[in-house]
Amino acid sequence: MTQSSIVDRGRASGASKAGRPFLSVIIPIYNEEESIPVLCRDLFNVLETIDTSFEVICINDGSKDKSLEILRAEASVRPELKIVSFRRNYGQTAAMMAGIDHAAGEVIVSIDADLQNDPRDIPALLAKMEEGYDVVSGWRKDRQDAAIRRNFVSRVANRIISRISGVELHDYGCTLKAYRHDVVKDVRLYGEMHRFIPIYASWMGARVCELPVRHHARQFGKSKYGLERVAKVILDLMVVKFLDRHFVKPIYVFGGFGLLSLAVSGFATLWMIWLKIAYGTSMVQTPLPILAAILFLVGVLSLLMGLLAEMLVRTYFESQGRRSYSVRETINMAEN
Ligand code: UDP
Ligand code: MG
Repeated sequence: MTQSSIVDRGRASGASKAGRPFLSVIIPIYNEEESIPVLCRDLFNVLETIDTSFEVICINDGSKDKSLEILRAEASVRPELKIVSFRRNYGQTAAMMAGIDHAAGEVIVSIDADLQNDPRDIPALLAKMEEGYDVVSGWRKDRQDAAIRRNFVSRVANRIISRISGVELHDYGCTLKAYRHDVVKDVRLYGEMHRFIPIYASWMGARVCELPVRHHARQFGKSKYGLERVAKVILDLMVVKFLDRHFVKPIYVFGGFGLLSLAVSGFATLWMIWLKIAYGTSMVQTPLPILAAILFLVGVLSLLMGLLAEMLVRTYFESQGRRSYSVRETINMAEN
């Protein structure tokens, strides 16, 4: 058992190459002491029946209850159970990120610790992967959470996310998902972004599909989230959309906005002049001069900011040796 934090990513893919399991199940855990024994029992029951090697990585996200002790006890009798324990609570996304970083399996399945997801759905997810998908996303078709405060709000949020991202899924928030390791290993997640993994993956050319899964009401403890999460999710989505779609060419976003501002400013100026000539209206009688001036300034500043962002992007890629593309496979090329 190692003490680890999200800062420590050095040990990623810890298992030896020879003994690499096929499946890594990752479980974010924050104060779930009552659920853990039941979860371990049910999960191992399922995993032991499917004919594949596996590991289970529990990420203790700074739990304040007895979760870690209980996990330790479970790990002492189950060699496939591994634990990554954070120094403090970093949030579910960081926990999932650590799970991905430490996973050795070819396929990663993430699942909640609170027994709301059902491990019995895992074989179906894996079967879907066999069909050639890179990401299979669970869909809590019959969701067992508060009707209005959770289910309705999340339905609306899911529609917005589908619209903005262009990746059509019903339920981004369901933790129960399966991913091929190579489509997620380079993803860096922050904030609420773990739910956007299918979006990232799809943008990178991965084949994504969804599968209805069971969902149970929470038996123990309580949900760690409230309504404020919806706002965070939408803001994060904007960041994701911006960073991924326009990261390489920020000038298109800033510059596009700048040009639009300049155009509207020009239009306001012409209108002002036309009003003066045609009707003799004094320019200061209308809000147009102020509008034209402000929009002109905004336009110029946006363009300059776009140039600044372009410089940042170049620094980013060049200083870290990053690539602006992601390779699906190479043929006859030595691995590096
Ligand atoms: N979780 C976590 N860190 C946090 C909050 C939650 O690791 O800061 C875990 C939690 O233990 C559970 C999963 O993330 O396994 C989902 O949390 P929760 O059930 O509260 O979310 P909900 O199902 O209500 O959306
Ligand atoms: Mg839950």
